[in-house]
Amino acid sequence: GTADLECDVLVLGGGPGGYSAAFRAADLGLKVVIVERYATLGGVCLNVGCIPSKALLHVAAVMDEVSHMADLGVDFGAPAVNIDKLRGHKEKVIGKLTGGLAAMAKMRKVTTVRGYGAFVGANHLEVEETTGTGQEKTGTKKVIAFKKAIIAAGSQAVRLPFMPDDPRVVDSTGALALKEVPKRMLILGGGIIGLEMGTVYSTLGARLDVVEMMDGLMQGADRDLVKIWQKMNAKRFDNIMLKTKTVGAKATPEGIEVTFAAAEEGGTAPAPQTYDLVLQAVGRTPNGKKIAAEKAGVAVTDRGFINVDIQMRTNVPHIFAIGDIVGQPMLAHKAVHEAHVAAEVIAGELQGNKELAAAAFNARVIPSVAYTDPEVAWVGLTEDQAKAQGIKVKKGLFPWTASGRAIANGRDEGVTKLLFDDSPEAHGHGKILGGGMVGTHAGDMIGEIALAIEMGADAVDIGKTIHPHPTLGESIGMAAEIAHGSCTDVP
Ligand code: FAD
Repeated sequence: GTADLECDVLVLGGGPGGYSAAFRAADLGLKVVIVERYATLGGVCLNVGCIPSKALLHVAAVMDEVSHMADLGVDFGAPAVNIDKLRGHKEKVIGKLTGGLAAMAKMRKVTTVRGYGAFVGANHLEVEETTGTGQEKTGTKKVIAFKKAIIAAGSQAVRLPFMPDDPRVVDSTGALALKEVPKRMLILGGGIIGLEMGTVYSTLGARLDVVEMMDGLMQGADRDLVKIWQKMNAKRFDNIMLKTKTVGAKATPEGIEVTFAAAEEGGTAPAPQTYDLVLQAVGRTPNGKKIAAEKAGVAVTDRGFINVDIQMRTNVPHIFAIGDIVGQPMLAHKAVHEAHVAAEVIAGELQGNKELAAAAFNARVIPSVAYTDPEVAWVGLTEDQAKAQGIKVKKGLFPWTASGRAIANGRDEGVTKLLFDDSPEAHGHGKILGGGMVGTHAGDMIGEIALAIEMGADAVDIGKTIHPHPTLGESIGMAAEIAHGSCTDVP
């Protein structure tokens, strides 16, 4: 049929996956169109995810730091919070980044079509134009013809079916809107997103409860690291309800009354509680069922995911998918790397470049970071996984109580842990398999451990690498030396 617009590559969704794919494809010489329903590029991450949460967490971390300074001899007094100004700061941060993306798209001659996209065939997408700051539809429709497509439509927060429709019940987007600081707040789901937002609100003055189905907070991270985080954060919480399900909620004039049940048979259920704010952070669901993928022949799972191979190709050979919509972990840095693979494979195929066409996603590891205070970061095999899988590892654990820098910072609660292959075949020189850190700036340091894993480093490689003194990063070299048994000089 006829199309209003034609391109080599159509990218559906303007998040970290979508814009990274579009930019790489444009840099490789292709004609690219991005379809995005919202007014700005950047997706969840820039608009309502990674970036705004970190803008607020930075402020919270400074407030917490300053509150400790009286003990060190400098008293700044009680903070006076202007929540409108704080919100304004967060919005400015978002604006700077989304504005930058728009400029970069223009520079690369990437066309952005604003609207809600749905497939109408294997080579055609229909866009229902949107306007304003949200996604109000204008009624205008456009058809875009493409040679290849990349689906990067992302995910959205899961909503529990029994939650009342009430402004006092929010998801992460509502929490980031930062309307007011509640007295009592319930975090539903003890994962990274919930605990990050909880950190912000508690530093601003809210008392926290958290409810989690599993037997611990921050699933995925080693329990010894989480234990340190929990000890440092105990004062933020009235109740940490583990192995507990949320089973009901009712809006009352006093607040949202929430009822709980034991997640396991024989467990005891906590009494119902009333909250001024309930944050739903029980996971995210992919947007796969909302794009009429079936019209293009693309298979979508019952849960809304799109399965892909290591080249990010769906079951339809000229249609690719990347980011949250293809599965866990739902992280921006994973989306970006997948985006580059998809764009390169496509450029290679359209231009007859065999090397590019052979691109594949083959990262060994994807790091995770909770940007809480202290931060918790981990990558590769965890100690808990090694135990569960019967993998023999040699551990190097460096407590920050032996780090001059951590002590000077007044923050020596951290630890750095490295795990090396200790199977008989490794002959005492096993490669690094994983690592984890809890402590200030852990997230900024975990990349070194990811690099070591990607490069196949062993303990000697890391231990003999001279790290600058005094830094927190030294703890990685120290942990390697401890694992290898030649740590003679602890500062
Ligand atoms: P998204 O960012 O979800 O982008 C998809 C885009 O597609 C959206 O802009 C959407 O509007 C658009 N779209 C969807 N359907 C259509 C359609 N039919 N037509 C037109 N447009 C459409 N990750 C990290 O790595 N680090 C962090 O610190 C971090 N913090 C987070 C904090 C919060 C509060 C949240 C919610 C998430 C956080 N994440 C973080 C996760 C991160 O935001 C996601 O992994 C990332 O945004 C996924 O990128 P994506 O490109 O796959 O999809």
